[in-house]
Formats: sequence, C-alpha cells, structure tokens
Amino acid sequence: MVDATGDSAVLTDQLGMFDRDSAQRGIGKEYEAVGTFELDEMLFRFDHFDAPGGYAWAFPAGDGVFKVGVCWIDDFYERHNTDAGRRIDDYVRRWADSDDRWEVDSVREVHAGQVYSNNSINTRAVDGLLAVGDAVSSINPLFGEGIRPGMESAEMAADVALAALRAGDTSRSGLAPYERRWNDEKGGAWKLQRAVGELLYDFAPVQQDRFVRAAGGMSPRQLDRLQRYELTIPDLLELYPFQFSDLWKAPALARHI
Ligand SMILES: Cc1cc2nc3c(=O)[nH]c(=O)nc-3n(C[C@H](O)[C@H](O)[C@H](O)COP(=O)(O)OP(=O)(O)OC[C@H]3O[C@@H](n4cnc5c(N)ncnc54)[C@H](O)[C@@H]3O)c2cc1C
Repeated sequence: MVDATGDSAVLTDQLGMFDRDSAQRGIGKEYEAVGTFELDEMLFRFDHFDAPGGYAWAFPAGDGVFKVGVCWIDDFYERHNTDAGRRIDDYVRRWADSDDRWEVDSVREVHAGQVYSNNSINTRAVDGLLAVGDAVSSINPLFGEGIRPGMESAEMAADVALAALRAGDTSRSGLAPYERRWNDEKGGAWKLQRAVGELLYDFAPVQQDRFVRAAGGMSPRQLDRLQRYELTIPDLLELYPFQFSDLWKAPALARHI
C-alpha cells in the first residue's frame, strides 16, 4: 500500500510516520489568469507587504496564460503581517493587480492549499506501506516546490516496492531501502534548507532587499546549484544579509542542524 494523500497525510499521520504537529504549516493561493504577461521567466517577490512571512510569485503558463500567487509560513506570517484582517485572497488580488508587466483579463482557475513541512527525514516505510510526496513531507522546505520532489520520492518508492514484491518481503525491512535512499539523497540537503528557510522568511525588510540584490549577482553556476538545491555553504554565506540582531535566532536554528 502507498500513502500518497498529500497534505491530508491520511495514514502517515495516524501511524506516527510524520508528526504534523511539530512541522511548519504554510498556505498558498494562486490565480491561473488569462491576459497579457510580458515576462518569460519566473518572478519571486520577497516582501512582507505583498506576502508577510512568505513570497509572492508570477510565471508564464502557456499562451496568454500565467499564474500569480502568494504563500506564507504561518509562524512568520504571524510575526510580519501588519493587518491581521487581510486574508490571503486579498493579498493575491492585490498582487495580481500590482504590476504593469502583466494584466489579468480573467481568472480561469484558482488553486489553494496547505503544506506541512519539516526536514523530510521521516519514517517512509512500515510493514506493508510506503509513503510518498507531501504525505511524508517530501516538499522542498525552502521554496515549497513539491511536484518534482514528490515524483522523485514516488520513483524511489516504486523501485523498492517492485524489488520487495519480487523478493516476497514487504515488511519494514524489505521496504526500508526507500527510506534510506531518500535520506541519503535528500535528507541532508532538505535539513540545511529547512534551516535556511527559518532565516529567509523572517528577514527584516532591509535584509530582504539585500538578499534579492545578492541573488541577482549570482553566477550561472550558482544559479544552476540553486535550481538543483545544491547551494554550498560559501554560496549561502554570499547570499546571507547578516545583521547583528540575527544572533538571537541561533537557538532556533540549532534545533535544525
Ligand atoms: C497554491 C499552490 C501552488 C503550488 N505551486 C507549486 C508549483 O508551482 N510547483 C510545485 O512543485 N509545487 C507547487 N505547490 C506544491 C504542490 O502542489 C504539492 O507539493 C504537490 O501537489 C504534492 O503532491 P502530492 O501528490 O504529494 O499530493 P497532492 O497533489 O495533494 O495529491 C494528493 C491526492 O490525494 C487525494 N486524497 C486525499 N485524501 C484521500 C483519501 N482519504 N483517499 C483517497 N485520495 C485522497 C487528494 O484528493 C489528492 O488528489 C503548490 C501548492 C499550492 C497550495
């Protein structure tokens, strides 16, 4: 059996494979809009005005179609929002209307959801059951990209499930190679990125500006590493807009290392 129930985590939650209570919850909402979109790349905006404790995005999604959305992590939203009366719908609508590089004629679909994210080092296999995707927090904890890692987890799980079925052993020990492979290939990187996210979404506005400027100066090699979630410690230090008051965050960060 495979639990692939996404943020509902139907079996993994009940079986204690993934503790949602200790994970971070985030929400997101996007419009799939029809209209004019002048960019041919994905745009991220880190600004507590547009997306307190998260980010806003816009990207092309086909001929005359594009997506604009807003997401945030609850803990950082609580810290950085200045108007608790505004709902995420209000933020998405304002973001959609905010920029003259695009113009929304109509909204043909609205997508919304939540994620529970930790460092992804969870129990992924028990007797007779594997878990993949968001059901076991495979989502990247830094930017919330979930489709690619979800597919990767499914591919790893399928390889191991087939071998286990052939060997006639679908016990935890027959299925555990999937969990080991995930932890070997992703666990360390996701753990580091979880810690980086803890800093990024809590940046003061002046740090957000410095971070975006530093990101704009990244070399093609660094950008390639960023896309593959393989930024090195020197890359991260180059990007990090340190300020003295960050020192109080050290204990919270230490929990993730
Ligand atoms: C607004 C928004 C925008 C996003 N944009 C992106 C993006 O651009 N790129 C990206 O990579 N990620 C994005 N994500 C994250 C991405 O959507 C998820 O990480 C990804 O969909 C997780 O895939 P999954 O298959 O694990 O779970 P899901 O896609 O959530 O699929 C789980 C399925 O299980 C079904 N299910 C639930 N309970 C049961 C049950 N009891 N019985 C049977 N079926 C059940 C659900 O109906 C659902 O169909 C976005 C998320 C949001 C909220």
